[in-house]
Amino acid sequence: MDKGFLKCPFCGSDDIKLIDRIDVSDGVHTYYHAKCSNCGASTEEQKSQYDAIVAWNRRA
Ligand SMILES: [Zn+2]
Repeated sequence: MDKGFLKCPFCGSDDIKLIDRIDVSDGVHTYYHAKCSNCGASTEEQKSQYDAIVAWNRRA
């Protein structure tokens, strides 16, 4: 999969990480969000890695 993150629209950093979190309430679903390592800007949690990347790229 192409992890084509755009640069951070807030600080211009290209150090964007994909964060995953297992929902402990059901232990099954994993949610993903993109986060800027420099300024901490992040997206809402998404249900797939792809959606997290798309959500990030829409912010700019
Ligand atoms: Zn940033």
